[in-house]
Amino acid sequence: MKNLKLVSRETEQCTVVKVCDVEVGRGFVVIAGPCSVESEEQTLETARAVKAAGANMLRGGSFNPRTSPYAFQGLGLRGLKLLDKASRETGLPIVTEVIDPRDVSWVAEFAHVLQIGTRNMQNFSLLKEVGRAGRPVLLKRGMYSTLEEWLNCAEYILSEGNPDVILCERGIRTFENYTRNTLDLSAVPAIKELTHLPIIIDPTHSTGRVSLIGSMSLAAVAAGADGLIIEVHYKPEEAMCDAAQALTPKTFTRLMSRIRPLKLFLENLPN
Ligand code: PEP
Ligand code: MN
Repeated sequence: MKNLKLVSRETEQCTVVKVCDVEVGRGFVVIAGPCSVESEEQTLETARAVKAAGANMLRGGSFNPRTSPYAFQGLGLRGLKLLDKASRETGLPIVTEVIDPRDVSWVAEFAHVLQIGTRNMQNFSLLKEVGRAGRPVLLKRGMYSTLEEWLNCAEYILSEGNPDVILCERGIRTFENYTRNTLDLSAVPAIKELTHLPIIIDPTHSTGRVSLIGSMSLAAVAAGADGLIIEVHYKPEEAMCDAAQALTPKTFTRLMSRIRPLKLFLENLPN
């Protein structure tokens, strides 16, 4: 691929993105939490549950890019303060989305990782801004984007001086509509061929169905992903967004107990 001066794989070496004491690109990292921060109780209860299950980071949106302008858009600053409280209590670093270049510098004061959502993957002014924010960036794949377009967006961030980019495959649009999107798991080995950056899988937004999340999470482990980002809600039936795809703490705990042995098994496979 042409002009990928900074993200392309030149050697065997892989980038490890350090977020507090979590290393993305070494071992296997699980990010979990609600789609959106809704209340203190919901955020703290969910954070405690995912921590107890073994998650490494807490996710939660405070600025939610929604398809409809009338849907819940997030709590903004109030939500970030709740995430901060949950992070201080559990010790989990925060991954949260930023949607406006004007918000990047102050959101970065609360976030340990700045998430760029699928709908903003090619928002070039936002990419440049997070490239200067001094925080790791979780760059989701645009739902209509090729791997080359995606990697060019990562190149924007690196070219502004920020080497800490985590790629996230979250499903792409195809003719299939049983699932919310189509999870492109082949992106994992392909990305490993093309770049030194770590890649994680989002089985939540790619499937949109609780019943499919477990299988696709295990498949992501087998495909060689560096981690997962999964939506968990302490009471999914009450979730203000993405309710049909949020795992309960119990289901998430069960999934976590299956991920680690699978990872271990794969590490011991002959080459
Ligand atoms: C999210 O992570 O809550 C989200 C909106 O994801 P995506 O940008 O992949 O749709
Ligand atoms: Mn969501």
